[in-house]
Parts: sequence; C-alpha cells; structure tokens
Amino acid sequence: MIRSEQHKRWQVLPNVDYKRDLDMAIPGAPNFCYGEVVESETAVEHGIKNIPTEAQWQAAEHFARTILQPLRNKLGRLKMSSWFRSVELNSHPSIGGSAIGFHPTGGGGDIDSLSCTLMELLEAAYLLPEWSEIIAEYFPNGWVHVGFLKGDNRRILKLKDSVHHFARVPIGRIREIYGH
Ligand SMILES: [Zn+2]
Repeated sequence: MIRSEQHKRWQVLPNVDYKRDLDMAIPGAPNFCYGEVVESETAVEHGIKNIPTEAQWQAAEHFARTILQPLRNKLGRLKMSSWFRSVELNSHPSIGGSAIGFHPTGGGGDIDSLSCTLMELLEAAYLLPEWSEIIAEYFPNGWVHVGFLKGDNRRILKLKDSVHHFARVPIGRIREIYGH
C-alpha cells in the first residue's frame, strides 16, 4: 500500500466509519490519501460527521486523479486546506460555504502550494485540459479553489478577495493584480 507523504493522524472523529481507509493513497493519485478528503478541524471541533456518500467519494477520487495529481506532478507538494464538506459542515456558521459550491460534491477543494507561488499554482490549474471552476481566493496569501465534476468543463474563472466577491474575470485580470 502506498502511503502519502502527508501521512499523519487525520483531523477526523474517532470511531467513525468513513467508508474508506483514510491512510490509503487514492488509486491513480498516489500523493493524496483518503484522509485528506474528509479531514476538517471544524468538523472535529463541532462533532460533525463529515462522511461522503459513495457518489461523493467517487467525485473526490476523480478530482484527485484529474486535477490534484497532475498539479502535484508539475509543481511539487500541495496541501489541501479544505476538501469535502458535508452539507452540515458546509453550512456551519464558521465555514459559511456556498450551498451550490463544489465542496459538498467531493469534486472540489482549496489547494495551497508548498513549493511554488499561488499564482504559479493558478496558472498550472488554468492549463489543465478540463475543469469546472477555479477561484483565486485572497491572493497572495490565500488559496486556489478548484472544482471539477466529470463532464462539466465550464472553465469558469473567478476572483475573490477583500475587493472582489466571486467576480468572474479573465486570467489577464488576475495577472494584472497579482502577477509580477
Ligand atoms: Zn473552496
């Protein structure tokens, strides 16, 4: 069994069956473990069982194979700051996630880079052949949110920071503000 380089004790509730072996690497995405999909400090803090359905697990696996692993291969180590969020977790006041966002589907997450700038991460994600949405959130210190569900190649790019609120923008606009 391949173990992720980020192997650790996951931030999950004890004695809960998450329906996957959290220490196991996701097939086709050897640098990512099932534990990364479900772990959440907020969920643990509030006793929320953040357990994907089988369809949500499969969406997370597809996301890992088609988005995360290609980015990892190109850029080096990545850190998921938030991935799957059950509806209960996503709607918790301390999260305030969008009800129609990608986190509750499993097919989207917030990516932080441990080896390059967020702008480089954004550019690499933008070049991937298929994705549904990318959001540059709170650059230069935030994260890159990417969502992708099978068959949904809408490629909607958005910007969210203290001035812009999920504004749809061309990549040139983000380069103007945050590139150099
Ligand atoms: Zn997000």
